[in-house]
Amino acid sequence: MSSTSPKILLRRLGLRPRKAWGQNFLLHPHQAQRIVAALELSGQETVVEIGPGLGALTVFLAPAAGKVVALERDPALAQFLEAELFPENPRVEILNQDALAFDFRECRRLTKKPLAVAGNLPYQITSPLLFKLMEAKTALSRAVLMMQQEVGDRLLSPPGTKDYGIISVLIQYHFSLERLFSLGPGNFYPPPQVDSVVLRLTPREPVPAARDEALLSRVVKAAFAHRRKTLTNTVVNRAPDFGLTPATIRRIFLTLQIDPGRRGETLSVAQFVELSNAIGVSSKQ
Ligand code: SAM
Repeated sequence: MSSTSPKILLRRLGLRPRKAWGQNFLLHPHQAQRIVAALELSGQETVVEIGPGLGALTVFLAPAAGKVVALERDPALAQFLEAELFPENPRVEILNQDALAFDFRECRRLTKKPLAVAGNLPYQITSPLLFKLMEAKTALSRAVLMMQQEVGDRLLSPPGTKDYGIISVLIQYHFSLERLFSLGPGNFYPPPQVDSVVLRLTPREPVPAARDEALLSRVVKAAFAHRRKTLTNTVVNRAPDFGLTPATIRRIFLTLQIDPGRRGETLSVAQFVELSNAIGVSSKQ
């Protein structure tokens, strides 16, 4: 591996870090190693890396994985990785593309094994990428991702807290989450404004399971549409969106022993699932 600092390497390549693409490069190889170690790779798996940048993680992923598919949006960085860091390396495939356009399911079909995902995420795409990973959950074995501390807090937060929101409910439904470690701005070039955190996400079989995951998303989004409003003002009043009358939804709340005077943010993940399952059954009657 080149131990050249990102600053010197970028200068040599005639590049500047691009804020618009969340380019904050890891400075210390041992931090990259910690992230790769957390994937607990067996040497056989395919790892999809999001935003390899100058290859800080990729150089440790390549010897530990069967194959690395690295998705880098910046053509200059993709060219550097391909031509200089991993020339003709059959274990590393650099794709100059937007990670949000990547087809995880198709990649899993081709590799015939669940995919591991790694990345020091560009902060602009963190939420859409997480939604994408939820959709592709069955194609994945696990993910180890670095993100803004604030986003990590949101993912991990329990019901009734100010950070608990749509993405908390849905990610906790689809994945078991572990907070691994935090890194301050001084670990990156250029330093970002905020702290970062590394989380491990493992797909889970939720109990209870949602009969219709798209409906679960719609119910959760309705419940959080106005944070300060009660479930009566959000879900009950939006009954027609679910093909039901307000009276039917009120009856569902009664059966589930959920007081519709509560705010959506107080419901547990399991209660959201029960609510969406009951709405689904009633709307088919
Ligand atoms: N992995 C490197 C590291 O840890 O030093 C770079 C991480 S940097 C935070 C994020 C990387 O993602 C940058 O290289 C950036 O160009 C790339 N990137 C930004 N948006 C992207 C997208 N939509 N798809 C793929 N890569 C993207």
